[in-house]
Formats: sequence, C-alpha cells, structure tokens
Amino acid sequence: MHIRDFKLDELPPGAKQSAWLDIARRADGGYWRLPLLTVIGAETGPTLLVLAGVHGDEYEGIAAIPQVYSAIKPRELRGRLVMAPICNMPAYEALQRSSPIDGLNLARVFPGDINGTITRQIAGWLSQKLLSQADFLIDLHTGGIAYELPTLIGYVHDSGALGTASQKAAMAFGAPVMWGHPLPLPAGRSISAATAMGIPSLYTEAAGGGRCDPDVVACFRDGVMNVMAHLGMIKMEPILRRLTHHFVGDGNLDTVIQARVDGFFKREVSLLENVKRSQRLGAILDPTGAEAAQVDADQDGVIIMLRGIPRVQAGDGVAHITQPYQSRK
Ligand SMILES: [Zn+2]
Repeated sequence: MHIRDFKLDELPPGAKQSAWLDIARRADGGYWRLPLLTVIGAETGPTLLVLAGVHGDEYEGIAAIPQVYSAIKPRELRGRLVMAPICNMPAYEALQRSSPIDGLNLARVFPGDINGTITRQIAGWLSQKLLSQADFLIDLHTGGIAYELPTLIGYVHDSGALGTASQKAAMAFGAPVMWGHPLPLPAGRSISAATAMGIPSLYTEAAGGGRCDPDVVACFRDGVMNVMAHLGMIKMEPILRRLTHHFVGDGNLDTVIQARVDGFFKREVSLLENVKRSQRLGAILDPTGAEAAQVDADQDGVIIMLRGIPRVQAGDGVAHITQPYQSRK
C-alpha cells in the first residue's frame, strides 16, 4: 500500500499488524518503503507515535521498537500504538546519518514536503499521516557514529500545557539523564513539528558509536512502556533508571563547540564532567601528533556531548556544554 492511501482510522480495533508502506520510487523500479508496526487497542484511548531510525546510524531505537511491539497485547491496550522503527531507510541502508540520495538530514526537514526529494517526502508523510493523528510523540535517537551523549530523555521545557505534559512524561520515561529544551525548539526536528501541531513530545539520546548497546535498548523499551503506562494506555509497574542528572539548554547540536582546523580530536574531558568557561577540553592534533589548535569551553556548565570519531574537519562539532536544571530560574 502507498502511504498516501494509508488511514490509521481504518485499522481494526483489537489487532496488531506489521506493514510496509510505499513512500517513493527507487531507481530500480521498486519503492522506498516505511516499515510500520501498529497495535490498535480493544479500548479507545490516546495515540502514541514512536519513531526510530530518523538517522540511519542510530541503532538502539531500531532494536527497542520490535521489543515493545511484541510486549503489547491489543486486548490490554487503551488507544493506539503506532511505531516506525526505521524512518530513514536510504540512510539506514547506507550505514550513515543522512540520506545518500539527496544529502539531507531527516531531522532538519520536518514537517517535510510530500512533493520534495526523498528525505522531505519521508518527513512529509510522517507528519501528515502519522504525527497529525498522534496525541504524543517519542523519537528515539542516539549519538550515531559521530557523536557521544549520555543516555538521556529530552523534553520541552516550558510552563505551558505542552511543556508540562512533556516534562511529566520525561520523568515517567525513567532515563538516567533528563534534558529540557526551552521553546522555541530548533527547526526541522520531529519534535519541533509536533510542537507546532500542539502535540507533546520526547526524544532520546545515547552513546551510539555505531554499536547497539543492550542496556540502552532496554532503557528505551522500558521508557516507551513507562510512558504508555503514564498516559493510561497500559497497566504496568514502571521500570525506572535512577535519575542522576537534570539539565536545561537549547540542545541544538548544530551550534556547538567546533573544530577550528582539520585533524585528530584528542579529548581531555569526559561526558557529564563539570567545566569552566575557557577551560581546555582537548586539542586538534596534526598527523605528527603536534597540537594544531586547542579546544576550549565556551561557557561554564556540564559536558553533554563529545565527538566520538577522532578525525575531524574544520567546522565539525566536537563538544557541547549545557546547564544544570537547578541553576535556571
Ligand atoms: Zn539522531
């Protein structure tokens, strides 16, 4: 079925199904397709949309979604669970973050355009066919191959109804780190599209590295189900990780501390380390090991992201600092 003909409202209650929805023609005459797992509860209730594989090199969410799917029974579900485990199939096939076809980053083009290039089409269909039907969104990311972050749940930090719903759900998710982002969110993300539609949302991050860490998969699986219980969709005792850190910051990984020159990034700090403005965080080395540039902290705060791949080109993000929740009024 082409996704343009897909109607969530036509799925029968009390059933679960996996489907492949056609998105756009491939050069070989076949289709780029979206795998979709749905569980429609016997009882009506909220619609939760869960996305993974928006970046093609982030694997824990892709692994967690089928585990949630197999755990949820339609007769025990209130509402609808709609999950797209690999949103960006072209990037996933190419083992990379962004699409090899149009070079676009799916997490920068929401709400997309169904008449655009493939990445814009995927965002457009996800927005129009799935997100528009949702009461809540969870987008499962990790740092991918290039970046390393602690396992965290990101939420909209705002005193309005949407922010309050997002923060309460983030607490319910039960990740070790919470990271709130004040409005307006950076553009183009699934969560910014959700916010524009008035839909509360969460997203995750984790160490990534091109691996699939079973502890992170379990945290994501439990977190999605904890949020389902929080939303009244299922009954279960929450399975929570102990909260160790709570931060607030813009969370825009496009505006971070950058490498000033090409070279080899040598880090001298760790994730979640407290740093002071102008403190040395590391250096960019030339091929002889000589220091070509120093990397300094741009503010006081806590290291929330570090580049994982040592090789950098000038302009690549190498570190990001955010602020403890308590320090913000
Ligand atoms: Zn991502």
